[in-house]
Amino acid sequence: MNNNSQIIKNYVRNIVKKNNKSGSVLFHGLSNAPKLSVAQRAILMLNCYDLVELDPCGKCNACERLKTFNHPDLHIVLPLPNEKKIELEAIRLWKQNVVKNNNLSLTGWKKIIASNLGTEKELIIRSEAITKINSVIKLRNFEAKKRVILIWHAEKLNSVASNKLLKMLEEPPDETYFFLVANNKDELLETIKSRLERIYVPEKLCSTTLTLATKAKNMENSKNVFMFDDINDESLNKFKKWMRACHSKNIVDLFDLNLEISKNTKNGHKNFMSFCSEMLSFCVRYIIYKKETVERVIDGGFVNKFCKHLSLETLFKLLKKTERAVYLLERNANAKILFLSLSIEFFKIFDENKL
Ligand SMILES: [Zn+2]
Repeated sequence: MNNNSQIIKNYVRNIVKKNNKSGSVLFHGLSNAPKLSVAQRAILMLNCYDLVELDPCGKCNACERLKTFNHPDLHIVLPLPNEKKIELEAIRLWKQNVVKNNNLSLTGWKKIIASNLGTEKELIIRSEAITKINSVIKLRNFEAKKRVILIWHAEKLNSVASNKLLKMLEEPPDETYFFLVANNKDELLETIKSRLERIYVPEKLCSTTLTLATKAKNMENSKNVFMFDDINDESLNKFKKWMRACHSKNIVDLFDLNLEISKNTKNGHKNFMSFCSEMLSFCVRYIIYKKETVERVIDGGFVNKFCKHLSLETLFKLLKKTERAVYLLERNANAKILFLSLSIEFFKIFDENKL
């Protein structure tokens, strides 16, 4: 790991850096990981009037209002029971409760709704909520530098809502950010996932570093503030070697890699395959958005070269196969056999690649 926390911090900063016109980010992690806090911090970074080296001041007009989620350009989408009448009251209740507890769980939220609004209906994000956002983004911002659409527990989007959201993510409007927060990224549509920058938020975050008024200096001293999905040189080099070997059908290199796999622990290999799927998803976004943020975080030279030779369709195929492999590894597939059969499938995908 080469100074991972710094890389991750830069990554978040790049996502929200001033001259970026729009962005779509997924903050994911286990249920007790402070994903909403991290997302909220990014919202403040986008809108603070008095940034200290890109860190929010916590005191200006924008920070004050965003701390309580009360800002006319912050649009919140929540899983709700299917009852139109209670929507406004539910959003008010949510704000009131997450200010007290940023890690409010879905079960906790359900209880709050039941006791305050007297309904125990299933909580879902329905297409009406997304339609509403679609009309909002056609209007100009009231006052914020960047408008933010915050979708809490995005895994609760139903399929119609997901498809509507996908259309918006395909052509993100200027000055607008989509921030999705979810426990399990695998419950999101593949097509949506591939359009999002992903930030994995670990459970153990130093809570003081997330205090909104924290000064930039404290941020510098803290370790592992944000964890992006395991970027490290070793995995990256292995990924490069693997892609090159599949592209050129270099059996010797593949044999080397397979030997390494047999030395790896089961989790080690699964983590590597997850890393590969993150990398491929990165490349998909790179082609779609051509964002320079990609180059700053990961070996940009490689990403650029790799993507230049591949069509979006090819990358999607590689991504799908890799994600399938992660799924199978989680279900105890034999790592060596899986790796070889996957590599052979990749030979074919590379062969069929048409630009
Ligand atoms: Zn501020």
